[in-house]
Amino acid sequence: MTYDLIIIGGGPAGTAAGVYAARKRIKTVLIAKEFGGQSLVSQDIQNFIGIVSLPGLELQERFKKHLEAYAEDILDIKEWELAKSLKKSNDGFKVATDKENTYQAKAVLVAAGSSRRKLKAIGADRLDNKGISYCASCDAPMFKGKDTVVIGGGNSGFEAAQQLLAYSPSVTLLEFGSEFKADALTLEQVSRDPKFKAITGAETIEIYGKVFVEGLKYKDRASGKITDLAVGGVFVEIGSIPDSNFLKDLLESVQKPTWWVAEQTPKEWKGGLDKWGQILVDHKTQRAAIEGMWAAGDITDVLYKQNNISMGDAVKALEDIYLWLQKKK
Ligand SMILES: Cc1cc2nc3c(=O)[nH]c(=O)nc-3n(C[C@H](O)[C@H](O)[C@H](O)COP(=O)(O)OP(=O)(O)OC[C@H]3O[C@@H](n4cnc5c(N)ncnc54)[C@H](O)[C@@H]3O)c2cc1C
Repeated sequence: MTYDLIIIGGGPAGTAAGVYAARKRIKTVLIAKEFGGQSLVSQDIQNFIGIVSLPGLELQERFKKHLEAYAEDILDIKEWELAKSLKKSNDGFKVATDKENTYQAKAVLVAAGSSRRKLKAIGADRLDNKGISYCASCDAPMFKGKDTVVIGGGNSGFEAAQQLLAYSPSVTLLEFGSEFKADALTLEQVSRDPKFKAITGAETIEIYGKVFVEGLKYKDRASGKITDLAVGGVFVEIGSIPDSNFLKDLLESVQKPTWWVAEQTPKEWKGGLDKWGQILVDHKTQRAAIEGMWAAGDITDVLYKQNNISMGDAVKALEDIYLWLQKKK
């Protein structure tokens, strides 16, 4: 069967796109590895407009319910399915998935978001989820009474430290660079706590422990001195990576479209992804550099990554897709 639209992703962007597609009666298939997106792990989302506070798991349920309420016969939902490749064909796009299914459509909206960047250090793979965590808001209570380390000196690193300070006797934050990237207010608030210490120019070289984390070694990048910290938990906050690998081949070699907005383009055009692997989009319409492809949310080069922004961008894309499909008829 050929659809009008394929949506890839079940986070805020993919879900918002699915609701709009169904309501506009666009024949759509939505492929989602899972619903909810990144803040699924959050215990308390407080800035989802219209809802004072809700846990990530409830957000997931609400997303699915909202989609299913409008799906009828117009929206096919393929949950627990992962898009593995995206190819352009003469009459549109083909997506192959890990369930060995192939879906075809005139247009595609990519809303696959991003995943947390993993730490590269000796022992980090082995102890992942065994004392190494990527979510302080989810896991901080499990580290009650244990000294902990946060790696990464941006806002998310300092915020993770703030949450850990409620449970840990001491929290040490290690920043690889020569200065912290967190905003002044957050930095100042967290640094006031006498249980907190922050160190710059620190390269984590090893995390050790028999079964669970027992300690961490870091190198002072200026002096080369190695310090050993006996800690029971390590929280990694070193950014995220867009989940765009599956469309790299398609977008990497694409030429700059004639309609591309000059000021949004990197100085040197190197295809439809930026150097971080984010999909370049025209921010008025969310169009990607290939005719018939749109993208929304954290997978794009949008500056600010938030639930509300991802949903708004997806809605913008759907308005444009609708008009584009009308012209194709
Ligand atoms: C711990 C944490 C807390 C946060 N708290 C907040 C907050 O309080 N407020 C706020 O506004 N923002 C918050 N954010 C940011 C917010 O979660 C993101 O901006 C938002 O989730 C981005 O939505 P998205 O739909 O673009 O991508 P994502 O949320 O990343 O969703 C992408 C979806 O696509 C699926 N997917 C990925 N690849 C494929 C594929 N190949 N095939 C099929 N499906 C695929 C994923 O499983 C996922 O469901 C938080 C982020 C984190 C990590």
